[in-house]
Amino acid sequence: MSVSHPAFWFLLLIVAAHLLEMVALLLDRRQLRQPLPAAMASWVEEESWQKSRHYAEARQQLALWEANSGLLVLLLFWFGGGFAWLEQWTNGWQLASWLTGMLYIGALLVGSYLSNLPFALYATFRLEARFGFNRTSWSTWLADQVKMTLLAVLLGGPLLAALLLLLQETGAYAWLYGWATVTAFSLLLQWILPRWILPLFNRYEPLPEGELRQAILDYAARVQFPVGQIYTIDGSRRSSKANAFVTGFGQQRRIALFDTLIQQHTVAELLAVLAHEVGHARHHHMAKMLLLGTLHTGILFGLLAVLLPWPGLYQGFFLAEMPLHAGLVFFALVIGPIDLFAGVLFKLLSRHFEYQADRYAVESAPQPTALISALRTLAKENLTNLLPHPVSILLHHSHPPVGQRIAAINRLLQPIGSCLE
Ligand SMILES: [Zn+2]
Repeated sequence: MSVSHPAFWFLLLIVAAHLLEMVALLLDRRQLRQPLPAAMASWVEEESWQKSRHYAEARQQLALWEANSGLLVLLLFWFGGGFAWLEQWTNGWQLASWLTGMLYIGALLVGSYLSNLPFALYATFRLEARFGFNRTSWSTWLADQVKMTLLAVLLGGPLLAALLLLLQETGAYAWLYGWATVTAFSLLLQWILPRWILPLFNRYEPLPEGELRQAILDYAARVQFPVGQIYTIDGSRRSSKANAFVTGFGQQRRIALFDTLIQQHTVAELLAVLAHEVGHARHHHMAKMLLLGTLHTGILFGLLAVLLPWPGLYQGFFLAEMPLHAGLVFFALVIGPIDLFAGVLFKLLSRHFEYQADRYAVESAPQPTALISALRTLAKENLTNLLPHPVSILLHHSHPPVGQRIAAINRLLQPIGSCLE
């Protein structure tokens, strides 16, 4: 393969991104050999620290195998002429071109799902089970797979068909129509996700009357936050890990607390966690992310419009023709490594938002220090990696490390001027 061949450059790009991931994983692993900083050693018992370390190491190991096998499968398929072979096979069906496209992309998605399946199974039934998190039964797991496949077909199918038709039929402004379609779709998804999709996977029950519900309503009234509905969800069906989230806007807002969260925390801690979620809403973090996501999609569609008509994109994957559906796949493969930088920016912003939400919680929760104890409990119960490496934080972490969050909260709690006599 000569340097002038586009395949050489695409390979270089994809391997470079892969190596970056590997470096991040190895640095992360080295970081775990460090002793725990004193600030954390004061609240993490040696046993939990060791357990969280082993958990992080096991997950890094799995990520390493998964990334390497994914790259190997891609390279074998790519350089074995798989893309051209699939093109021939799908053309053999003599379908309308948008249906050929659906078949082509669908086949690749099924292939990538299957090649990833052993890792997904191992993660749930071995790794998570080994550390006592897994509560997913085989029947729940199978039902989840069926539901997710149906959702992918029912929601993703029409979107893909619409994109294939739009990009093929609408000429010079096709990318603008494509962008508008994806944006409309993601807004629709925001609306249907809490109503129809999440309830398919978990049971939502209104939080029963009692101390917690009353405390939440009192807090919400005090900070004048329209709560909408408060639910508990049965997260314990799949994992003992805890979480909480808020979906929707305004009166449509829904607060969901995992049953595991309620079991592991005091009312004051739960209020602090809730106050953090209210902080996100008050700062319009979700709307800001949605807006930036839309802008990002627009940039991607702009790039798509430039790259789709370029023959090199297809030659790089050993295709003589230039079918639209293959162009979309190749674009995704080539743009992925470049898009890592956008991911870094999004995560940077997300970590900034977490600090803002923490600040709001400290300022508004009835017991400001409860957020610290909530974060400590969460970190211990979920075996959070206490010492992620900065490079891995940059690439992967949407939340700041728990130690840094607690340090920031402590700075907020320190009364100003306490150092003066
Ligand atoms: Zn948050």
